Amino acid sequence: MKTESKKEYDLIVIGAGSGGLAAAQRAAEHKQRVAIIEMGQLGGTCVNRGCIPKKIYWYAAEFAYDLKHSNTLGFETNDFKHNWQTLQQASKQYIKKLNDMYRKNLSQKNIEIITGNASFQSSKEISVGGVLLTAKQIIIACGATPVVPDIPGAEFGITSDDFFELKNKPNKTIIVGSGYVAVELAGILNALGSDTKIVARKNSILRKFDQSIQSSVIDYLVESGVEVSLNTDVLSVKENNNQLLVQTNNKDHTSVDALLWAIGRKPLVSDLGLERTQVTKDKNNFILVDQYQTTKDPNICAIGDVVGNHELTPVAIAAGRILSDRLFSDKEKEWLEYKNIPTVIFAHPPVGTVGMSEEEARAVYGNKVKIYEANFVSLRHSLIGVSSKAMVKLVCLGKEEIVIGCHIVGQGADELLQGFAVAIKMGAQKKDLD
Ligand code: FAD
Repeated sequence: MKTESKKEYDLIVIGAGSGGLAAAQRAAEHKQRVAIIEMGQLGGTCVNRGCIPKKIYWYAAEFAYDLKHSNTLGFETNDFKHNWQTLQQASKQYIKKLNDMYRKNLSQKNIEIITGNASFQSSKEISVGGVLLTAKQIIIACGATPVVPDIPGAEFGITSDDFFELKNKPNKTIIVGSGYVAVELAGILNALGSDTKIVARKNSILRKFDQSIQSSVIDYLVESGVEVSLNTDVLSVKENNNQLLVQTNNKDHTSVDALLWAIGRKPLVSDLGLERTQVTKDKNNFILVDQYQTTKDPNICAIGDVVGNHELTPVAIAAGRILSDRLFSDKEKEWLEYKNIPTVIFAHPPVGTVGMSEEEARAVYGNKVKIYEANFVSLRHSLIGVSSKAMVKLVCLGKEEIVIGCHIVGQGADELLQGFAVAIKMGAQKKDLD
């Protein structure tokens, strides 16, 4: 490799997403000379094509839902219209504000932003656009990217990244997948008036979550008009006159405007030059780290989605901050505990969940597990004629009935969860919640 110059730092961070930004800024607070390398926009997935635009579109969907049902309480909103491009502009403007804010914060902390694609030359050397950078410590925070399957015509589909770039709302959409991204984007499209179908390969959706969450969310989706097709595999996609013909194993030949792949995410590691380091990966290419986020190469740590453990923004941020505290301050023994991490699914209504599902708890503790579950139609839904049920479930352990899982589907579950998560982390018993 031909290099033009060589620059030295205490820390180089690859990737300016949730994890990388947090690690870089905390290291700079500890007076380290830091460079952060980013090949795209500052803020990474969460800010540019994940949590932030998703939440903005979710708010739009919630407004649409309220408008649609508000005539029950006397509002005359039968002919309301929605402008997709206005929504997209609002989202882009907000994202731009965050991009600028990150740039300002980094520069105030004297962190050097280097634009380009980083590649390891050795354990302590990174090349970017012909420049060689060296540091005692390197953090990989490269994130992940959507998976597209290897089937004929897969390229006609879009991913969640492309969803936020759509100039117009598709009138008819198939979303392939069963995880939270599939459920959230289906809810948004449906509420904003797209004829929406979820196609899932197995016999349920949200299969990593408690069974009661799965059934409650399916009920709400179906009642709101989303078709949910289970045990269904997409075999091929063909394009004809701006329409996609989607063939499945159920001999379906559905014609749609858009097909969205939401079948999982893979770590962004293929161009990193890891073969020139001692870093190792698992069978799905996620980087292997110990509890201190250190790879098999002592100079290199990894955080966030690229290690494939609870792929969420607050987790990446916490891992980044704790790691920089450990590396550059006297908190040498600090590490992030990946346990009881609360998660929200922005469905309609939202889902809040923390701790073990009933199935996980029974597999570990057998008949020491006791379940408390309530299902009911909320007053709000009852008023507007929705019959799907909200759900609250506590998974409790032993005679003391320590709460080891809490699962909620219903209006406000997203915010409500936070208090329960704190209580569970503090070891709450069922009687405390009574
Ligand atoms: P990222 O944020 O992905 O950042 C990695 C950065 O590294 C990227 O900017 C990339 O361009 C850069 N990069 C990669 N390789 C290189 C290279 N070789 N050289 C230079 N730069 C490189 N999480 C939540 O907590 N709540 C939510 O509501 C939520 N919603 C989501 C919705 C969607 C649709 C998606 C896709 C994700 C969502 N997430 C959500 C997950 C969240 O976005 C991620 O967990 C988080 O962004 C991970 O942060 P990270 O720092 O590991 O990676």
